[in-house]
Amino acid sequence: MKYRALTQGLAAILSAQLLVVTPALSQPMGIPSMGPASGAELSPNLERTLGDAIMEQGRRDPQYVTEPIINQYLTELGQKLAKHSSVPLHYEVQVFGMRDRTINAFALPGGYIGINTGLMVAAESEAELASVVAHEIAHVAQRHVARGMTQSSESSHIMLASLVGALLAGLAGSADLAMGVATFGQAAAVDRQLGFSRQAEQEADRIGYHMLQGAGFDPNGMAQMFKRLMHSSRLNESPNAYATTHPLSAQRLADVENRIMSTPAQTYTQSTDFWFVQAAAAVLQAQGGSALLSVQQRLQEAVSSQSGASKAAAYYGLAYAAKQRNDKAAAQQYLQQARQVGVESAALDSLQIDVYWAQGQTEKAWQLAKQAWAKWPNNQAIALDYVEALQKQGLLEQAIPFLEQRIQQWPQAPRFHQLLAQALDKRQQPVEAREAMAQYYILVGALSSAVDQLQQARSLSTDFYQQSKLDVQIRDLRERLERDRLLLERFKG
Ligand SMILES: [Zn+2]
Repeated sequence: MKYRALTQGLAAILSAQLLVVTPALSQPMGIPSMGPASGAELSPNLERTLGDAIMEQGRRDPQYVTEPIINQYLTELGQKLAKHSSVPLHYEVQVFGMRDRTINAFALPGGYIGINTGLMVAAESEAELASVVAHEIAHVAQRHVARGMTQSSESSHIMLASLVGALLAGLAGSADLAMGVATFGQAAAVDRQLGFSRQAEQEADRIGYHMLQGAGFDPNGMAQMFKRLMHSSRLNESPNAYATTHPLSAQRLADVENRIMSTPAQTYTQSTDFWFVQAAAAVLQAQGGSALLSVQQRLQEAVSSQSGASKAAAYYGLAYAAKQRNDKAAAQQYLQQARQVGVESAALDSLQIDVYWAQGQTEKAWQLAKQAWAKWPNNQAIALDYVEALQKQGLLEQAIPFLEQRIQQWPQAPRFHQLLAQALDKRQQPVEAREAMAQYYILVGALSSAVDQLQQARSLSTDFYQQSKLDVQIRDLRERLERDRLLLERFKG
């Protein structure tokens, strides 16, 4: 990925003797003892803190995919696979997309897994994509990233120190955006720089295979993905960073094929969502110009050669691209053609709602938003469309309880807290609005911004009990910030 160039530029300064952590981490909770980190193991808590700090910056990276159709799909795919891990995970897996045509996937500390759009597009079935996600989850479960970081090599040490310096600036609220993005790039490069051992790769294959099979995906997807990656790296037809960092060997392929032979055949799962996610990923990574033209050409070909969900998804991709270049009439036409295929999809409804709004078809947008939410009560994109519709209809009194329920439903999705804050502000509840915004910042790992929001709430509040409650929250968050800061300080070594 582009981070590679960036990292190589910094390679003299950074390389990978990451996180050297200290036995003191096994102490009870609380402020850890002082002194530079040393020793072998990176504790799961510390790994998560580091991962949160990296992701706080990663979410602001322009390549970070914000499309809810893709995000929710990837995260749920990861969680479905993780449930079948034979090795217990220390934290919930969070999978996100990166808009990058390089075929790659990477694991960050703390259970965060990035999947490039290039990989989503290269996969020819959901099982193929799931096989790579499962392999990365296996690296996380086996704590390969954490262990790699604690191995001492000169290069990783310097890299870590630099990374941590930037993360500390972020914690203090003083990092600028460019710096944050660079830091995220370095972090994303870490697992590649580590270059896991052959044994670690074999372990990840074995555990990943069982996850794939346990979650009901066709295990042949793993062998097919292997062959595809080997083939594309041989032909050099597309940038394939994955093959560089996860060396593909005949042995690994043979191991997978042997496992498949000894696995009894069964009925496998394949969601229609995969095709829609893939189409959206293809359009998003093209970013206009000639790349977009060739994506559209491929989608046109798929429309005539495919059937069922992949055909409907190809029309959806064409509509998605038309909407991006603001050609509302073409978007509408492709959506109609998609619907004629007869495949139902939340992605189709969500895009149709957007197109109706863009066309000024207010009543149609509103009616479809209501119907779609009744039909897809577990879809975040549709929930977001419905909130937007409520607000556009001036139904603030309904939007607020709706958002509160969605926060109960998806406690880890930051966007709903942000929307709740905006709605409360409109309803002249500035204290509650800032409390909601503080929750948003906590979820994205921006603790110092959360403290700011709570302090503003504290100074706006005239209620004694509310003030006392806010004081407690502010004190707790400051302690957590200080604890994180001290943990990170040790890595500066
Ligand atoms: Zn690997």
